[in-house]
Order: sequence, then C-alpha cells, then structure tokens
Amino acid sequence: MEPWQQQLSQSAVKIEDLPFIPESPEYRERLKKVGEIYPIRINSYFLNLIKGPNDPLWKQVVPTLEELDDYIEGETLLADPLNEEGDMPVPELVHRYPDRVLLMINNQCPIVCRFCTRKRKIGFPGVVTRDTLRQGIEYIRNNPEIRDVIMSGGDPLLVPDKELDRILSELRSIPHLEIIRIGTRVPGTLPSRITENLCSILKKYHPLYFNMHFNHPAEITPEVEKACAMLADIGIPLGSQTVLLKGVNDNSQTMKELMLKLLKNRVKPYYIYQADMTEGTDHFRTSVEKGLDILRDLMGHTSGMAVPYFVIDAPGGGGKVRLLPNSVVEHNKDEVVITNYEGKVFRYSQYNGGNGSSSKNSKSKHQDMCQLPA
Ligand SMILES: *Cc1c(COP(=O)(O)O)cnc(C)c1O
Repeated sequence: MEPWQQQLSQSAVKIEDLPFIPESPEYRERLKKVGEIYPIRINSYFLNLIKGPNDPLWKQVVPTLEELDDYIEGETLLADPLNEEGDMPVPELVHRYPDRVLLMINNQCPIVCRFCTRKRKIGFPGVVTRDTLRQGIEYIRNNPEIRDVIMSGGDPLLVPDKELDRILSELRSIPHLEIIRIGTRVPGTLPSRITENLCSILKKYHPLYFNMHFNHPAEITPEVEKACAMLADIGIPLGSQTVLLKGVNDNSQTMKELMLKLLKNRVKPYYIYQADMTEGTDHFRTSVEKGLDILRDLMGHTSGMAVPYFVIDAPGGGGKVRLLPNSVVEHNKDEVVITNYEGKVFRYSQYNGGNGSSSKNSKSKHQDMCQLPA
C-alpha cells in the first residue's frame, strides 16, 4: 500500500472517529442520521490539520445537525441544484456548453466536503462504473464538437495509476479532443498522492490542465507546496477554484491570503463560486454582495493575477455567470465615466469615427454600441 492509500484507509468515516464533537449521546445519535444521508470522510492527513472545533478546516469536513434541518425543511433547495442530471446524454457525463463536457471519473473524494454541490452522489457505491466511463468516452469520441473535457467526480486522482493511465490514453486517442482538464481536491487535501510515478503518467498527456480546489490558506502546507511544485515542474498549468463559504473564507483578508499563497505556488486563481443552492448546505451560503465586496477588496489592491472570476453557477443549469463590482458610473455615446479601486472618478472620451464626422452624425451607430447602465 502506498502512503496515500494508507492515509485514505485511515479516514474518519464514522461518528466515533470525528474530532471535536459534543459528547452528548443524543447529539451523536442525531448526527448519525446525517451520516446516513450524506457519507463522511476525512483522510488521516487532513484530520491531523484540524486544530479545534469550528476552525475553517473542521467546518468543511465535520458534519453538523444543520445538514439534517436543511434536508427536512429545504423547499427552494435541491439535491441537484444545477440540474446536471438533466444535461446528461449518457450517464455521468454533463454536456452543457457547446464545445466541452464534464466527465465523472469516480464518485470518491479524499475528503467529503459538507458543502458539496454533488452531495447527492459523493461517497455512495455504484454511481460511476466502468460502464458509465466507457459510455462517456464513447460519447466524446462520437461528438467532434467536443474539444475540451473536464475530468471530475468525485476526484479523478483517487483512481489507481494504471487505471488513470488507461483513461487518459483513451481520451488522448480522440483526435478532436484538444485539451484535458483535471478537476481535483487531491493536491490540497491528500498531497502524498502526487508521486513521481503519477507525474510520469500525467506528463505523457499534454496539453493537460489542473483546476484544484482550495478554500482556506491553512490548506497550503509544506506538503501541499511540494505537490504543487511537482505538478508545475512537469509543465501542467495549475488553476484553483474556491467556494465562498460562510465562516470559512467569507472575508477579504482570508481570501487575499489564500490567493497570494496560491500564486506563490504557481497556481493561478480561476474561480470563486457563490455557494450553490444545494440541499443540506444552506448554512454555508453567504449573500452575493459578500462575494462582490471581496472582489472589490482584491481588484487593484493586489496583483491582477491574484483576482479570480466570481461566478454564480445559475440554478437549474444555466451555466456559470461572471459577476463584477460595478465600475461604470455613466456610459453614453460621448464618454464613459468610471471609478478606480480607490473610488476616484475618471472620464474616458469615446472615439467618434475619426473621419471628421461629428458625434451628431454618428449618433445612431453609437447608440447601438452603448447601453446605459440601468
Ligand atoms: C464548470 C463547467 C464547465 C467548464 O466551464 P469553464 O467556464 O469552461 O471552465 C463545463 N461543463 C460543466 C457542466 C461545468 O459545470
């Protein structure tokens, strides 16, 4: 058994294994119900990082009774808030956008996040099988408009080396597939999985991109830094995705620290997600304004490269929609009035055709181009 497999096999999966939970038998009995609905997993590496009850790592992985309350009362919340199941032409492959698909490689994770958008299927047996995977790869082969695949799950990196090698080589044999992306939480929560052997497999399949999941600066340990360096050294462009979570990272200082720590490790922040409206996760949701405030506190104040896109994955399956704090004060055919990060106001005069025509003459053209803010 490799060290990462050992750390996985020593996961907390039962109520008795959980760190820093109330002693009361009543509480534990009710918590058991939560565990029956939504599986528990905290691998031993991650377990060792938890410093106390309600610390930002504890909150992400230790179940609470709030998950049960949501499950009973949640009327607007859904098990599948993004309607992924509705966009599956074959099982466990989501084809939502014209030229790219999301393919579930498995449904196991190094830790089970309590706020997971796929809470409905993570950790249960028999969801992703050899057969669904075969059908998914076949679907990509038969649809030439697909030029980008996101290997997701679950976590694709929990698949054994040999199997991963086989899946990647099958995908690479599809001529129209230009890029392969791996969506993973492994480098940040089970860094021992990033071995020399895994790297020797991955580097055969370029162009290969990684989008890793990080939510808090405390996740970036020396072990994680080493794992990121190994991946960057074999030429994989590294990106990160973060979920905006109440009590975990919903303040500008924490987010800034996380983004800067990622950049230092050659990881480019890609997305911050507004939390999805998923059953059993309501207690993690913040207002949308919170995300915009965080973006406002990052933009201009630090490296532009440290500022990810802030998105809402539109409920019901509309896809990702990017939101920006408003920087346009006024916008008409003659000028655009904008504010910078310090709140100072600037005027930009619009180009009016350059052939001597006055703005009056070119009015209709410019009215088409300029939409006044509502
Ligand atoms: C997020 C997502 C993608 C990829 O979106 P990008 O904006 O290209 O990163 C593709 N398919 C599905 C279903 C997704 O949820």
